[in-house]
Amino acid sequence: MTVRPGTIAAHVDAERLWRRHMELAQHGATANGGVDRQALSAEEIAARRTLVAWGEAIGLSASNDDAGNLFLRLAGTEPDLAPVMIGSHIDSQPTGGKFDGAFGVLAALESVEAIVASGARPRRPIDVVAWMNEEGSRFAPGMMGSAAFTGARKLADVLAVRDAAGVSVSDALAAVLAAEPQLPRRPLGTPVAAFVEAHIEQGPILEAEARTIGVVTGIQGKRTFRVTVTGEENHAGTSPRSARRDALVSAVAMVQALQDAMWDEADVVRFTIGRFEVTPNAPSVVPARVVFSIDLRHPDTAMLRDLGDRIPGLCEAAAGRCTVDVRELLHDPPLEFPAAIRDRIRAAAQDLGITWMDIPSGAGHDARYLHYHGPTGMIFIPCKDGLSHHEAESATRDDIAAGARVLAETAFGLSVAE
Ligand SMILES: [Zn+2]
Repeated sequence: MTVRPGTIAAHVDAERLWRRHMELAQHGATANGGVDRQALSAEEIAARRTLVAWGEAIGLSASNDDAGNLFLRLAGTEPDLAPVMIGSHIDSQPTGGKFDGAFGVLAALESVEAIVASGARPRRPIDVVAWMNEEGSRFAPGMMGSAAFTGARKLADVLAVRDAAGVSVSDALAAVLAAEPQLPRRPLGTPVAAFVEAHIEQGPILEAEARTIGVVTGIQGKRTFRVTVTGEENHAGTSPRSARRDALVSAVAMVQALQDAMWDEADVVRFTIGRFEVTPNAPSVVPARVVFSIDLRHPDTAMLRDLGDRIPGLCEAAAGRCTVDVRELLHDPPLEFPAAIRDRIRAAAQDLGITWMDIPSGAGHDARYLHYHGPTGMIFIPCKDGLSHHEAESATRDDIAAGARVLAETAFGLSVAE
């Protein structure tokens, strides 16, 4: 059966899709109009129940896996083929918005609903997926579900992580799975014919360029470090300067040296010290210890390597009388999504007369892990003022619908491709 371009997209219902965003946002709604729906919380359990109900109402079969990923499957005419997967995540930051993650899952659900309504039959199954704990806010680091699914992290390691209250992923996940006793459990790591994640841009570029669709070229690389500066605790009134080993003074010198070294004319380097802990943090005590974090990102593999490799030396050179230990926690190289998926997304936008541009992703997404598991791509839509991880995060009904139309066409095309 041949399906003309635009046939599926014509069945995307902008009103229904918007309404679902507002309904899903009720689970964990905050007083300021945002969402607090952290991973594996009671709010997320309720949101999952809502998703399953919406999926089952259009004939999708729901399932989950040992990592707490949730799937809603539209059957294909060849049910044994590897599925096309589309989706994102429904967990949020504690002061998150209505669209980060939720848009990708709801646009995926809308896509399969549009396929069903069009009467077209996919050859491969299409799975709508909500990956477990993308945000990494309650349980760090994020992208846990996609990491466990693709084998990037061992499930046992993921399950052992604890939140600030001491609750393990293992216990919180058990509660989520216990709330879904009727769902069949599917294995981790099964083949995926393709994965496409729709997401708000979380940056200002599409809005500034007045384009509706971002065809995501890839995800920039990221390295994270933990720097521990050790000095000596002493009395603020009695210890002379000459006798002090002040960890804060050394740490501040390191911060300045690092800022200077990471400065680039083109403003491509993303360098952030987001956490800074002083011990004992008492007004009349010379600081004995400072621990700070470094988050470094760059789209170029060699630049990311070279800049990151300079960090320990820069810290050593600025340590003064203190000692410093620099530990690297993560090194994810930049990645480029395959042209075959990007071409399909671009063609879908083109056929629908929706403006588009190529755009890199500055943020990490579940698509990072899926990229190493099967052909993967991403679709961005604008968000107001580029704002995300914020209660005021916002996207327009029209842009949301446009994103879903492009996703629906792309997903169906992939599902019938050889
Ligand atoms: Zn997200």
